[in-house]
Amino acid sequence: MSIEVRNITKKFGKFTALNDVSLQVEPGELIALLGPSGSGKTTLLRIIAGLEFPDSGPAQVLFHGEDVTPRPASERKAGFAFQHYALFRHMNVFENIAFGLRVRPRDQRPAESDIQKRVGDLLKLIQLEPLGNRFPSQLSGGQRQRVALARALAVEPKVLLLDEPFGALDAQVRKELRRWLRRLHDEIHVTTLFVTHDQEEALEVADRVVVMNEGRIEQIGTPEQVYDEPANPFVLHFLGHVNLFRGRVAEGSVKVGDTEIRLRDPNEVPYLTDTATVYFRPHDVTVNASPDGPATIAAIVKHVNAAGPVVRLSLTRRDDGSHFDVELPREQWRSLQRQPGQEVFVHLQKVRVFAESQTIQTDGFTI
Ligand code: ATP
Repeated sequence: MSIEVRNITKKFGKFTALNDVSLQVEPGELIALLGPSGSGKTTLLRIIAGLEFPDSGPAQVLFHGEDVTPRPASERKAGFAFQHYALFRHMNVFENIAFGLRVRPRDQRPAESDIQKRVGDLLKLIQLEPLGNRFPSQLSGGQRQRVALARALAVEPKVLLLDEPFGALDAQVRKELRRWLRRLHDEIHVTTLFVTHDQEEALEVADRVVVMNEGRIEQIGTPEQVYDEPANPFVLHFLGHVNLFRGRVAEGSVKVGDTEIRLRDPNEVPYLTDTATVYFRPHDVTVNASPDGPATIAAIVKHVNAAGPVVRLSLTRRDDGSHFDVELPREQWRSLQRQPGQEVFVHLQKVRVFAESQTIQTDGFTI
């Protein structure tokens, strides 16, 4: 089922939690709502669920093209799993999952044999078949989260809404569960929105990521799009480590100290005028023993972290002493034969430039 929200604004007192948010989710998509704390993710999810209502105005929530804006949660047929929605402690796993079916009005309630079958199938799906008789206190955190998801799925929701579904778990269990969620979604294809503040989780699991900030959507795109073509500096900063240099634009180039970065197509960025900020990811470079063209930064190695397959170098620029970080494969680092205190030449492979005065900035380009 598709979901569409149009022009959603939500104020709490004078505080604007959502500011004219619109979003279209295709049937069967798995969408991550990603953003820092307080950016409005949960509020948006609750409005889609029907647990919260948008301020009056042009706001609309559509399920499968049908306007459900004034309808309460009970009429929207969405399944929820919220981080703070604990399982019922006095019910075993089986009964927790069966709960949503048992509380249905008598004329809509499935027969007991159907409930047994449905819950049995779900226990298989979440790979907890033998644990149906256990109580929540006898489960690990990850197992409890899976039961919470099964409980949400039991009522065969048309939409699955998950608020930080793995929030309270330790890093390793989170990783396992998010892969599990992806596999589960590939099996059942329920249109799903999940809230997370964890970039890695969003990029790994979702079909598309909605990046939110201060009640607005900054960008919507596939994980590759938001990572490789961030729409603005906020998205760039929020999705992983990035280095930043201030520069000046002149004649189709950006000059950063002694380094000159030629714009691939200066006509693409005619409004770049005076000052600009140059961003590059630590891995979008090569590190050499000698200069390699004008887009090269001469730098001094300050610190080397060689644990793991990728070596992380902490460097300072020769021209102004400012810090930046790069990453390179271990073999390349070995073959350079450099030590802390020595000089290297960092060739920028891919940068993005944003003009200071623009709110919507330009494409990236490769040198
Ligand atoms: P987090 O990751 O911390 O859960 P979030 O992006 O999900 O953050 P929301 O929970 O949607 O953010 O909250 C957005 C803003 O709205 C926050 O500043 C929050 O304090 C405020 N807010 C949310 N619910 C209410 C409420 N019922 N009354 C007043 N303010 C609220």
